[in-house]
Amino acid sequence: MGGLRGELSRVAQLVADYRERLRGARVAPVAGRAELRSAFGGELPGSPTPLSQVIDELVAAATPGLMGSAGPRYFGFVVGGSLDAALVADVLTTGWDQNAFNEALSPAAMAVEDVAGRWLKELLGLPASASVGFVTGAQGANTVGLAAARWWVLHQAGWDVGRNGLFGAPRVRLLAGAERHATIDRAVRLLGFGEHAIEEVPALPDGAMDTDALALALSRDSGSPTIVCAQAGNVNTGACDDLGAAADAARGANAWLHVDGAFGMWAAASPRTRELVGGIERADSWACDGHKWLNVPYDSGYGICAHPDVHATAMGYTASYLTGQVVGREFGGGDFVAESSRRARGFATWAAIRSLGRSGVADLVDRSCALARRFADGLRAIDGVTIVNDVVLNQVLVRVGDEDTTNRINRLVQDEGTLWLGATSWRGERLLRVSVSNWSTTEEDVDRCVEAIARARAAVIARK
Ligand SMILES: *Cc1c(COP(=O)(O)O)cnc(C)c1O
Repeated sequence: MGGLRGELSRVAQLVADYRERLRGARVAPVAGRAELRSAFGGELPGSPTPLSQVIDELVAAATPGLMGSAGPRYFGFVVGGSLDAALVADVLTTGWDQNAFNEALSPAAMAVEDVAGRWLKELLGLPASASVGFVTGAQGANTVGLAAARWWVLHQAGWDVGRNGLFGAPRVRLLAGAERHATIDRAVRLLGFGEHAIEEVPALPDGAMDTDALALALSRDSGSPTIVCAQAGNVNTGACDDLGAAADAARGANAWLHVDGAFGMWAAASPRTRELVGGIERADSWACDGHKWLNVPYDSGYGICAHPDVHATAMGYTASYLTGQVVGREFGGGDFVAESSRRARGFATWAAIRSLGRSGVADLVDRSCALARRFADGLRAIDGVTIVNDVVLNQVLVRVGDEDTTNRINRLVQDEGTLWLGATSWRGERLLRVSVSNWSTTEEDVDRCVEAIARARAAVIARK
């Protein structure tokens, strides 16, 4: 073999073999970080190593530590596996090695983002005029959305935050639900507001924001520049905030409405779940992930904004070597994200949507939700097990016992290897959490996993 061509062919086979094996393989890795560190080697290499040897060593060292999260029986966090089309497009993206900053660097990378962005807006029911920043994930998208929000609300108050920063700026009110995702807090930190700036709006029992409480809070002190941060898809229960009510309340207070819809926004792509996120089109900015429910490989999120000029003013930059291209140029690429040189992320998203089409995306959402309900039904039938949430989307919360029992069952399930799922704390209780977000999961997979959980629970209880 040898040479780039030979190694690429070999690796293509390796990747295909790996993906095929995922269907039947154990999910958890067999080696931990410390052990793997020694496998990856000790001293800094002093001289070059041939390509084929580098790849052999890499595969041998990494394989025991790979988590089967791309496969059908991984239900931890909210993690999708990549679709075949998106995976192959992502390999091409690496091979083409484009810099997606602007048109001068890669016309193809810009154009594919234009088209994939248009398709995304249609699937998610967002205004066609919105701008789409292809970011690294929902953390990036929340940061972008809140940066645009910060620029606009302060601009309305006569303050240019881009030039003058936050020192001496009018105070900005920032309201977010008590069950917001932690990436909102990090975005708020990075944007200089500080976490204490967040006014927490109480949550309803299912974790969605209490929008009556939001309206009440907004009616007080309604003259201040204000940002409201709502959520579509609570990471524990899957509940979505009443976005129509949040939009009404925000509009009444002249506030900017941002929606963190990392995975839950995909409810909009299916007629069966669309009403869960009714009113979503009325927000000012949205954060959504590609690498969760759309099953695009990692490094894929979308920071979407109803006001492209605000979006680009908050995020873009110009430099002397760019000014020749600024006049009359279209926004895109680096103007809508917090990066300069960047991966051409649009290819993988384009391929995912091209391969599934509108009906395929709706089917992916529907199947995940149906499998989550199947999980809930199967687990509920086990003596002593209860389902804690209303399974409205793809998340299932499972009560299997007290905290210690739950943790033991969780570890045993992970070690046994049929599936991988995590535990969470919800309303003061330790629970198992199942998230169904992978295109390749089948009913048989779910049934096998329910049995594995039942076995683990019986074993833990017998030992007590
Ligand atoms: C996963 C998630 C995020 C963070 O997304 P990343 O892609 O991991 O950056 C933010 N908000 C919600 C609701 C999420 O589920």
